[in-house]
Amino acid sequence: MKQRSFVMLKPDAVKRRLAGEVLTRFEKRGLKIIATKMMIIDSDLAKKHYGEHSEKPFFKDLVNYIISGPVLATVIEGEECISLIRKMVGATNPQEADLGTIRGDYAIDTGRNIIHASDSPASAAREISLFFEDSEICEYTLPDEELIYEEP
Ligand code: UDP
Repeated sequence: MKQRSFVMLKPDAVKRRLAGEVLTRFEKRGLKIIATKMMIIDSDLAKKHYGEHSEKPFFKDLVNYIISGPVLATVIEGEECISLIRKMVGATNPQEADLGTIRGDYAIDTGRNIIHASDSPASAAREISLFFEDSEICEYTLPDEELIYEEP
Protein backbone atom coordinates (compact mmCIF):
# COMPACT_ATOMS: atom_id res chain seq x y z
CA MET A 1 0.00 0.00 0.00
CA LYS A 2 1.27 3.45 -0.87
CA GLN A 3 2.00 5.44 2.29
CA ARG A 4 3.29 8.86 3.30
CA SER A 5 5.76 9.34 6.13
CA PHE A 6 6.84 12.49 7.93
CA VAL A 7 10.61 12.71 8.08
CA MET A 8 12.46 15.53 9.78
CA LEU A 9 16.15 16.21 9.61
CA LYS A 10 16.88 17.65 13.01
CA PRO A 11 19.02 20.76 13.66
CA ASP A 12 22.17 18.67 14.18
CA ALA A 13 21.72 17.11 10.72
CA VAL A 14 21.26 20.51 9.07
CA LYS A 15 24.15 22.13 10.96
CA ARG A 16 26.43 19.16 10.27
CA ARG A 17 25.61 19.54 6.53
CA LEU A 18 24.18 16.02 6.38
CA ALA A 19 20.72 16.96 5.06
CA GLY A 20 21.46 16.38 1.39
CA GLU A 21 23.27 13.11 2.02
CA VAL A 22 20.44 11.73 4.13
CA LEU A 23 17.73 12.76 1.66
CA THR A 24 19.82 11.19 -1.12
CA ARG A 25 19.59 7.84 0.69
CA PHE A 26 15.80 7.96 0.50
CA GLU A 27 15.90 9.02 -3.14
CA LYS A 28 18.32 6.24 -4.04
CA ARG A 29 16.10 3.69 -2.32
CA GLY A 30 13.38 4.63 -4.81
CA LEU A 31 11.26 6.73 -2.48
CA LYS A 32 9.67 9.99 -3.58
CA ILE A 33 10.07 13.30 -1.77
CA ILE A 34 6.73 15.07 -2.13
CA ALA A 35 7.29 18.03 0.21
CA THR A 36 10.20 19.61 2.02
CA LYS A 37 10.89 22.88 3.74
CA MET A 38 13.48 24.34 6.07
CA MET A 39 12.03 25.93 9.16
CA ILE A 40 12.85 26.87 12.71
CA ILE A 41 10.18 25.25 14.84
CA ASP A 42 8.67 27.23 17.69
CA SER A 43 8.27 25.58 21.05
CA ASP A 44 4.47 25.22 20.66
CA LEU A 45 4.89 23.12 17.53
CA ALA A 46 7.79 21.18 19.09
CA LYS A 47 5.66 20.33 22.13
CA LYS A 48 2.75 19.24 19.92
CA HIS A 49 4.98 17.12 17.71
CA TYR A 50 6.55 15.37 20.70
CA GLY A 51 3.38 15.47 22.83
CA GLU A 52 3.49 11.72 23.57
CA HIS A 53 6.76 12.32 25.46
CA SER A 54 5.56 15.27 27.54
CA GLU A 55 5.86 13.35 30.83
CA LYS A 56 9.29 11.91 30.06
CA PRO A 57 12.41 13.22 31.82
CA PHE A 58 14.08 14.07 28.49
CA PHE A 59 11.13 16.13 27.18
CA LYS A 60 12.52 19.58 28.01
CA ASP A 61 15.94 18.80 26.50
CA LEU A 62 14.24 17.27 23.46
CA VAL A 63 12.15 20.40 22.84
CA ASN A 64 15.17 22.68 23.36
CA TYR A 65 17.21 20.59 20.93
CA ILE A 66 14.57 20.53 18.22
CA ILE A 67 14.05 24.33 18.34
CA SER A 68 17.80 25.06 18.50
CA GLY A 69 18.20 25.55 14.75
CA PRO A 70 16.64 24.85 11.38
CA VAL A 71 15.06 21.51 10.58
CA LEU A 72 14.19 20.09 7.18
CA ALA A 73 10.58 18.93 7.43
CA THR A 74 9.86 16.43 4.68
CA VAL A 75 7.10 14.17 3.41
CA ILE A 76 8.17 10.99 1.66
CA GLU A 77 5.92 8.67 -0.32
CA GLY A 78 6.30 5.03 -1.31
CA GLU A 79 4.95 1.50 -0.88
CA GLU A 80 4.91 0.59 2.82
CA CYS A 81 7.35 3.44 3.32
CA ILE A 82 6.64 4.06 7.03
CA SER A 83 8.30 0.88 8.28
CA LEU A 84 10.85 0.90 5.47
CA ILE A 85 12.04 4.40 6.47
CA ARG A 86 12.13 3.42 10.17
CA LYS A 87 14.44 0.54 9.20
CA MET A 88 16.65 2.91 7.22
CA VAL A 89 16.74 5.34 10.19
CA GLY A 90 17.77 2.72 12.77
CA ALA A 91 17.41 2.50 16.55
CA THR A 92 16.63 5.58 18.64
CA ASN A 93 19.95 5.21 20.45
CA PRO A 94 22.59 5.46 17.71
CA GLN A 95 24.91 3.27 19.81
CA GLU A 96 22.42 0.47 19.19
CA ALA A 97 21.66 1.35 15.57
CA ASP A 98 23.04 -1.06 12.99
CA LEU A 99 25.80 0.13 10.70
CA GLY A 100 24.25 1.02 7.38
CA THR A 101 21.34 2.78 9.03
CA ILE A 102 21.27 6.55 9.09
CA ARG A 103 21.70 6.84 12.86
CA GLY A 104 24.22 3.97 12.86
CA ASP A 105 26.33 5.75 10.27
CA TYR A 106 26.06 9.39 11.32
CA ALA A 107 25.17 9.70 15.01
CA ILE A 108 26.43 8.80 18.47
CA ASP A 109 24.07 10.15 21.16
CA THR A 110 20.30 9.55 21.56
CA GLY A 111 19.79 13.26 22.15
CA ARG A 112 21.57 14.08 18.88
CA ASN A 113 20.26 11.34 16.62
CA ILE A 114 19.82 13.62 13.55
CA ILE A 115 16.48 12.42 12.19
CA HIS A 116 12.84 11.80 13.03
CA ALA A 117 10.56 9.46 11.09
CA SER A 118 6.91 8.57 11.73
CA ASP A 119 6.38 5.26 13.50
CA SER A 120 2.84 4.42 12.31
CA PRO A 121 0.24 5.52 9.74
CA ALA A 122 -1.65 7.40 12.48
CA SER A 123 1.44 9.36 13.59
CA ALA A 124 2.39 10.03 9.96
CA ALA A 125 -1.02 11.58 9.27
CA ARG A 126 -0.90 13.63 12.48
CA GLU A 127 2.66 14.85 11.92
CA ILE A 128 2.19 15.70 8.24
CA SER A 129 -0.85 17.82 9.09
CA LEU A 130 1.04 19.56 11.91
CA PHE A 131 3.82 20.66 9.56
CA PHE A 132 2.23 20.98 6.10
CA GLU A 133 -0.81 22.44 4.41
CA ASP A 134 -2.29 20.15 1.74
CA SER A 135 -1.27 22.73 -0.88
CA GLU A 136 2.41 22.31 0.05
CA ILE A 137 2.40 18.62 -0.88
CA CYS A 138 3.28 17.88 -4.50
CA GLU A 139 1.73 14.96 -6.31
CA TYR A 140 3.73 13.75 -9.28
CA THR A 141 4.85 10.56 -10.96
CA LEU A 142 8.43 9.37 -11.00
CA PRO A 143 9.49 8.49 -14.54
CA ASP A 144 11.13 5.25 -13.37
CA GLU A 145 8.34 3.86 -11.18
CA GLU A 146 8.16 0.70 -13.28
CA LEU A 147 11.83 0.10 -12.47
CA ILE A 148 11.14 0.46 -8.74
CA TYR A 149 7.82 -1.39 -8.44
CA GLU A 150 6.57 -4.57 -10.11
CA GLU A 151 3.15 -2.96 -10.29
CA PRO A 152 3.56 0.84 -10.33
N1 UDP B 1 15.08 10.90 23.19
C1 UDP B 1 16.00 11.31 24.12
N2 UDP B 1 16.28 10.50 25.20
C2 UDP B 1 15.65 9.31 25.36
C3 UDP B 1 14.71 8.88 24.40
C4 UDP B 1 14.44 9.71 23.32
O1 UDP B 1 16.58 12.39 23.99
O2 UDP B 1 15.93 8.61 26.35
C5 UDP B 1 14.79 11.78 22.03
C6 UDP B 1 15.47 11.30 20.75
O3 UDP B 1 15.89 12.45 20.02
C7 UDP B 1 14.33 10.60 20.03
C8 UDP B 1 13.14 11.46 20.43
O4 UDP B 1 13.39 11.78 21.79
O5 UDP B 1 14.55 10.58 18.63
C9 UDP B 1 11.81 10.76 20.32
O6 UDP B 1 11.86 9.54 21.00
P1 UDP B 1 11.20 8.22 20.38
O7 UDP B 1 11.19 7.19 21.47
O8 UDP B 1 9.90 8.57 19.75
O9 UDP B 1 12.29 7.75 19.31
P2 UDP B 1 12.33 7.77 17.72
O10 UDP B 1 10.95 7.45 17.22
O11 UDP B 1 12.80 9.15 17.29
O12 UDP B 1 13.33 6.71 17.37
